[in-house]
Amino acid sequence: MTQTLFVVSECAPLIKTGGLADVAGALPGALADYGDEVRTLLPGYRAVMGKLGKTKVVEKFPDLFGGPARLLACAVAGLDLLVLDAPHLYDRDGGIYVDAAGRDWPDNPERFAALCYVAATIAVSGAGGWRPDIVHGHDWQAGLTPEYMQALGATVPFVFTIHNIAFHGNLPADRLGALRLDPARFTADHFEFWGQISALKAGLTGAAKITTVSRTYAEELLTPEFGMGMDGVLRYRQSDLVGIVNGIDEGIWNPATDPDITPYKSAAGKAANKKALQKIFGLGQSEGPLCVLVSRLTEQKGIDLLLGALPELLDRGGQLALLGSGDPRLEVALHEAAAGHPNVSVKIGYDEALSHQMVAGGDAILVPSRFEPCGLTQLYGLRYGTLPLVALTGGLADTVINASPASLASGVATGVQFFPVTTQALGNAFVRLCDLYADQKTWKTMQRNAMKQPVGWETSAADYHAIYASLTEA
Ligand code: ADP
Repeated sequence: MTQTLFVVSECAPLIKTGGLADVAGALPGALADYGDEVRTLLPGYRAVMGKLGKTKVVEKFPDLFGGPARLLACAVAGLDLLVLDAPHLYDRDGGIYVDAAGRDWPDNPERFAALCYVAATIAVSGAGGWRPDIVHGHDWQAGLTPEYMQALGATVPFVFTIHNIAFHGNLPADRLGALRLDPARFTADHFEFWGQISALKAGLTGAAKITTVSRTYAEELLTPEFGMGMDGVLRYRQSDLVGIVNGIDEGIWNPATDPDITPYKSAAGKAANKKALQKIFGLGQSEGPLCVLVSRLTEQKGIDLLLGALPELLDRGGQLALLGSGDPRLEVALHEAAAGHPNVSVKIGYDEALSHQMVAGGDAILVPSRFEPCGLTQLYGLRYGTLPLVALTGGLADTVINASPASLASGVATGVQFFPVTTQALGNAFVRLCDLYADQKTWKTMQRNAMKQPVGWETSAADYHAIYASLTEA
């Protein structure tokens, strides 16, 4: 059994912008089944502080990057938390990474350096009498942790998980002093990246083991196309890089017990949810599949490809219900598509309950991402018998079994994959999807296959457990 300190910038159900929060919220519970204990260090954003209940002050920092701070221990939703209450860094309106206008907070370097610094102090002296055997950081926001661990003389190993390599956390070199980083280590071997400080690179070079969230993404990261400038560092660290696919929280995502839907145990129970969803989105009945998509709206997610390929779906009587928010240009384009066709409906915003209703009521769930480290919504789709139509990349390649003649014949297909990730290939995939939907016998077989596929954390938690064990047994 190991005691692990998670260092994360978001954690469900307290604060979430994407899949990272889901992983941080679910993995500790799954690791507990293997005897591992996790405590999670999280920034005390305004939205988080209001949800904590009873807390205990376990540490005080008179001056943490510009102001006083306290470390609070508490238990929320089955998670053991260490919340960094630093009002000068986290107590503000707006998003957790960006202001109300969508711009990165100018003091993001200090905001997340502070988190890493406190993680390092916990690695050295513990918190409230608890000491970690392992520090496990997630994404660039935790990347500077090993630098501070090194500076403070911590001896425990650091594990680093890449949830999305697109975000580097680059900072101008003139912040070295303000961030209390060692100028002697501002080199290509450590955290210097094209003349800047890279928090991500600090994590990659300082980790004893690097993980990412699917096997295919672990391979893709070694290529210039997907490595986003870090492929060289990752090739250098290849022997310490491993892909472990994400699971879903099966307590929260279970069609038989989901409080936001009309619960069902077999796909036959989806009909009532489909009807309800069509009503919510103002869609009528139609002979084709109702496709749903729940996502951040960014270039990564292939929304522009979807818009281009949509006629292939609509011409065959298919429907689209989409929930998302992000890039204002994509939001406008989606509104235009919805205005132009009665079988397209779009809701801009973030709505947890509606996302459950969509996964339950859709016939198919779309993930046309240009790259996708793991992806969670296709896993929800599998669990709910809502067949995924996905790009052949990253975790989407690893978790969906494409409906090919061979996989259909052997009765294992669970969805539709397309490659290359282009409008044309997506259009062709819509045609295949509609053909499969028209053949209800095959469709139902695929739904059964999908709902049987293990998508929980069990196997992957065992993989993390094995990594922790290998690092602490040495
Ligand atoms: P990413 O982490 O790149 O955003 P993932 O598929 O790994 O993508 O995780 C996204 C998570 O955020 C899923 O749980 C998804 O349901 C949720 N999500 C994304 N956008 C919304 C939204 N507008 N409303 C509700 N949930 C959303």
